[in-house]
Amino acid sequence: MLYSRYFASKLIKANHKLLFAFFLFVYASLIFCHLSYCYPPHEDSQWYKKLRYKMVSQQIEARDIYNQKVLQAMRDVPRHLFVPERRKKSAYGDFPLPIGYGQTISQPYIVALMTDLLKPEKDDIALEVGTGSGYQAAVLSKIVKKIYTVEIIAPLGKAADKRVDELGYKNITVKVGDGYFGWEQYAPFDCIIVTAASDHIPPPLVKQLKNGGKMAIPVGKPFQVQKLMLVEKSEKGEIRIKNILPVRFVPLRRIQR
Ligand code: SAH
Repeated sequence: MLYSRYFASKLIKANHKLLFAFFLFVYASLIFCHLSYCYPPHEDSQWYKKLRYKMVSQQIEARDIYNQKVLQAMRDVPRHLFVPERRKKSAYGDFPLPIGYGQTISQPYIVALMTDLLKPEKDDIALEVGTGSGYQAAVLSKIVKKIYTVEIIAPLGKAADKRVDELGYKNITVKVGDGYFGWEQYAPFDCIIVTAASDHIPPPLVKQLKNGGKMAIPVGKPFQVQKLMLVEKSEKGEIRIKNILPVRFVPLRRIQR
């Protein structure tokens, strides 16, 4: 009887220790989950970096883009931090991805190609029409001095503004508005990139392009195959338009005035 009491008290003590260890484990797990919930948007790991380098060699260099500035920018910008949480793992695939509100972040190759077409330089001032996630602006911002970008869907524009700010891209300014009219206040621009398809080249954008500047824009009807065009303005102000390749972009919307 005495022995059984002795063993019972030992067992209770041991259970206390087990219980304590269990609660410690639960508490630590809760803290870990909380931290990983708060911090993942800004994290860039070796795993993602590897995917990014592979993306550049297999999807971009393999398709004959050799501009080192463009390749380096594509290696540097953490594309997975510009897509919705559940798309992170497919961020480096060879395809566009949905970013909400029926819009998409372009396929990595198209981002690289359009950036390369502009032949951007370090002192350039650029304009983007169609901020979306802010990814294209981030890539271009690695090369040029300043980029102004306009987004027509307010929640997308605000989210992109917050994202580029948190990720430390100091030379990007986002505005919510109709990019069809460009951004008069900061014109003229050395490069203009339009990432939504228009059935014509918006005259205000041609006007806001600097002499010697370049604009990349998909031209064609919505929800059909469009033509990626390169618009070049000579030093004398003459316009030359080149048809680069068939593409598929979301339509350039218009605010009714
Ligand atoms: N460049 C973006 C992807 C663009 S998707 C990125 O890197 O993620 C095209 C974007 O153009 C969409 O977000 C769409 O809302 C925006 N857009 C469409 N019409 C517009 C307009 N008139 N002015 C500004 N943005 C427009």
